[in-house]
Amino acid sequence: MRELSVNEIFGGSVERKRDVKKFYSEIFELQNFSDIKERDKTKDELLMIDLVNKETNKLLDRFGIEHFDISAKNIHVLEKEAAIQYYKKMGLPEGTYGSFDPARQAIFLKEEGDMLFFMKNLAHEMSHIKSYQSAQIFSRGAEKPLITDRRFGLSIQLRNKENRRAPSGKYAFSDLDEAVIDVLANRLVRDILESADLPEKLNYLRKRYKEDADKLFERSYFAYKLRFWDMVTRIYEKHKDEFSSPNEVFEVFAEAIFKKKKFLEVGKLIESTFGKHGFRIIGESGMPESEIKKSTEE
Ligand SMILES: [Zn+2]
Repeated sequence: MRELSVNEIFGGSVERKRDVKKFYSEIFELQNFSDIKERDKTKDELLMIDLVNKETNKLLDRFGIEHFDISAKNIHVLEKEAAIQYYKKMGLPEGTYGSFDPARQAIFLKEEGDMLFFMKNLAHEMSHIKSYQSAQIFSRGAEKPLITDRRFGLSIQLRNKENRRAPSGKYAFSDLDEAVIDVLANRLVRDILESADLPEKLNYLRKRYKEDADKLFERSYFAYKLRFWDMVTRIYEKHKDEFSSPNEVFEVFAEAIFKKKKFLEVGKLIESTFGKHGFRIIGESGMPESEIKKSTEE
């Protein structure tokens, strides 16, 4: 069973790698952060954490990946004001609903007083924490070894061209990563609510979902998801001999979130649809502008 979110560590000696792994495992286990004012989780939230954990494990099953259990202690619920302060400190954009911090091996959720939104935000962050992740150790020439994330789902930290001994802090494909994660999160919500495992006391969410499915889709990464579906449609149009629907193309992207090597397939699909440099361009400048968005702006 996976005991930390980081799948692979690059750089540094064998001993250093072992230490870093131990460091992450201990944080994953301890979850003791004195600088965070979290509130106790409600019974319904605990129930939801269990449901989302199980459903995301089913997703891993689909791709033949071992389960990764995230217990309630790795999920920290912050009251609205505390969350705003925390996200600000972490340099996250205003209006953030949730975050996953690999350095803390933890998910931080903003209290919204709404179980459907809690569910969706949790499904989003839980998909992030279970995605394929690698870290990089910079130790040569440095006094203290520096650990940074290298790959995070589909998002990749670019190399630092000026200083190869330090992280660049710049990421490629992070828009793509967020779009795929958010589509997955919406589907996880739908699947949990359709499942017979849903406890009776949460039944009311089924009705809410029927009424608010559009709201759930629109409230996070809307522009990215429009661009993403445009891209998927164009890939499908070009590869109708290989795929029977755009959704089958989506599955390739979804699998690549959790599998290191599946990314190569994503790269090939993008290159064969958007040209030889398509993959690099999308990595550096983001997904092409959505046709839908363009037409609404004109
Ligand atoms: Zn996200």
